[in-house]
Amino acid sequence: LLTDYAWPDDSVERSVIEEAGHTLVTGPADPASAEAIEELVAEHRPAGILTCWAPVSATAIGASPDLRIVARLGVGLDNIAVDTATERGVWVTNVPDYCVEEVSDHAVGMVLAWTRGLAKSDREVRAGRWDPAGARLRRLSTLTCGVVGYGRIGRATVGKLGAFGCRILAHDPYPPKDAPGAEMVGLEELLRRSDVVILHVPLTPGTHHIIGTEQLALMPPGGLLVNVSRGGLVDTDAVIKALDSGHLDGAAFDVLETEPHVPAGLLEQPGALLTPHIAFSSDASVTELRRRAAEEVVRTLAG
Ligand code: NAD
Repeated sequence: LLTDYAWPDDSVERSVIEEAGHTLVTGPADPASAEAIEELVAEHRPAGILTCWAPVSATAIGASPDLRIVARLGVGLDNIAVDTATERGVWVTNVPDYCVEEVSDHAVGMVLAWTRGLAKSDREVRAGRWDPAGARLRRLSTLTCGVVGYGRIGRATVGKLGAFGCRILAHDPYPPKDAPGAEMVGLEELLRRSDVVILHVPLTPGTHHIIGTEQLALMPPGGLLVNVSRGGLVDTDAVIKALDSGHLDGAAFDVLETEPHVPAGLLEQPGALLTPHIAFSSDASVTELRRRAAEEVVRTLAG
């Protein structure tokens, strides 16, 4: 049972599931309510559930005696009653690494958009201003970039930034034995030395507002903060104040604490570059996500 699909059709999931000899039933296109999913599960009694955003509640999990797996099309599992699934011996799977390339590309793209003034210049030209002398641009190879979180995506970003010849610092509470291309340092040192700070950290109670007033004050004046991880990592009001004062020159955010609401104080900032939580997305990553989630179902049903 595919509970919901945000894509134009269910062809990728269908080909994987049907090739293995199973039947795919597709639910509503929009993220459905918990009750709607519970009814669907009770009606079809599936052996596997594929879900993107639709909630798979404890009731839904209990509604199919044949259920063996709930596969999430994505990374996080917060829309699935994992405890109930575990108690009942139902597997819960995710696809943790389908978009490493895309998110690291997005981060590097945001850095280049800032050093080369791409978004700002585009806005000015469209507004009828042709002012090459007014642009404040930078040579990336003279800058220091600090990557906070040296996991799958952080490593990929470090690797890509290496091609630009900048100095690269990285911070992770579990530093690896070797970090090719990066100097591993503490968070405070990273902040003090980095013109560009890029966040690749998961949001946990320990990382909530990991960047706030104090941390921004440590950064050299005129820098850039990039957040492509989770909005809650950053104290948005502190960033708006730092942009207002000019201490921070740029803030490039793919995620916001309040998404989909964008605070007016951020929209007014010429130094803000905002994208609507799309860093994960490309044709390739979405196809890979759908295929691999369906393969988890097939693998589990095959025992
Ligand atoms: P990962 O688990 O491979 O790496 C995360 C790293 O952060 C780990 O090495 C961990 O030790 C480190 N870390 C934990 N706490 C830290 C701290 N306080 N300071 C520094 N480092 C810390 O995860 P990943 O696949 O690299 O993904 C990173 C994050 O990117 C995810 O948690 C998710 O929030 C975000 N993400 C965003 C999008 C998007 O579309 N914008 C898509 C995918 C992932």
